[in-house]
Amino acid sequence: MKNITQVLNQILVIAILIIVIDCGAQAPEILNLSDVQIKKSGVYNYWLKMGSNTYGKSNSIPVIVIQGDTPGPTLGLTAAIHGNELNGIPIIHQLVESINYSKLKGRVIAIPGLNAISIQNDRRRFIDEEDLNRNFPGKEKGNRSQQYAYKIKERVLPSFDFMIDMHTASFGRVNTMYARADVSNDTLRKLAKLQGADIILNSKGMPSFGGVSKSTRTMRAEAVLQGTPCITVEYGNPQVFQNNIISRGLKGIYNTLKWLKMYPGEIEQSTFETSHCKKSYWIYMNEGGFLEVLVDLNQHINSGSKIAVVKDAFGTIINEYFAPEDGIVIGKSTNPTNMSGGRIIHLGIMK
Ligand SMILES: [Zn+2]
Repeated sequence: MKNITQVLNQILVIAILIIVIDCGAQAPEILNLSDVQIKKSGVYNYWLKMGSNTYGKSNSIPVIVIQGDTPGPTLGLTAAIHGNELNGIPIIHQLVESINYSKLKGRVIAIPGLNAISIQNDRRRFIDEEDLNRNFPGKEKGNRSQQYAYKIKERVLPSFDFMIDMHTASFGRVNTMYARADVSNDTLRKLAKLQGADIILNSKGMPSFGGVSKSTRTMRAEAVLQGTPCITVEYGNPQVFQNNIISRGLKGIYNTLKWLKMYPGEIEQSTFETSHCKKSYWIYMNEGGFLEVLVDLNQHINSGSKIAVVKDAFGTIINEYFAPEDGIVIGKSTNPTNMSGGRIIHLGIMK
């Protein structure tokens, strides 16, 4: 027969389990960010339903609302629309940990995992192998990625007054920390500058960049078309958390909040010069082979300087690549094994 101590211990364990389960799981589910109605300042978690899975359960994405004390604009932060681009997630987590929301004007709505299905599968693309970020505006009754993009367009983007879309390089590549923005627009140029990026790349986010078809566009372009100033920031490398870039990224988000007069304090200037690129392009391999890239991220290279060597299976050099013009290395391949068409470097052109 159990004594009284054993019974009490069992009750205690059950009580702790109930508390743990209750605290961990139950953020309320919403269907639209406009459903968020908060009066009191604080941090609030939600699951935003984006459809349902085979078993009829919700396909939901995490939403964190940091609500300030006084009215003001809404800054939207979206991380990992590409499921292997993770550095934006800890930037959001650290913002939540560090911000004093009683000093905030307006609200921050952060989505630390927009492509939740692919994040848990360590994949860049959506479940149907489509690139979500080339599928806007999506279609209400379209295929899987089209419906998902449509829901983002209808249920997420309209709630933002300003927006930063958080990316990284993809598998087999590394990136500097760089911002993509249409710099002909004053607000977008300023937003890009506030991030303390190595490079600001002029880009409109329209289908010319790896577009699926002329009718599709990036989420950034969709937001801008809706009238929401939006930039993309590329925070380094895929499928890792990089502490240095995360802390720089966090500083950029605070700078943004200060510039928007949503948070007190001085804007922190970066300690280095940002390079400005008017355009950029990838240089690809003409043949398959084992690739060695000879230049570093952020390196300024001159026209004609050697950037890569390709060897065959026997170790014989079969080609060498040279910079076609002066530029700066925005990104580069880290994958030595390539067939013809493999990427070498992403070259930014400054002048
Ligand atoms: Zn991306």
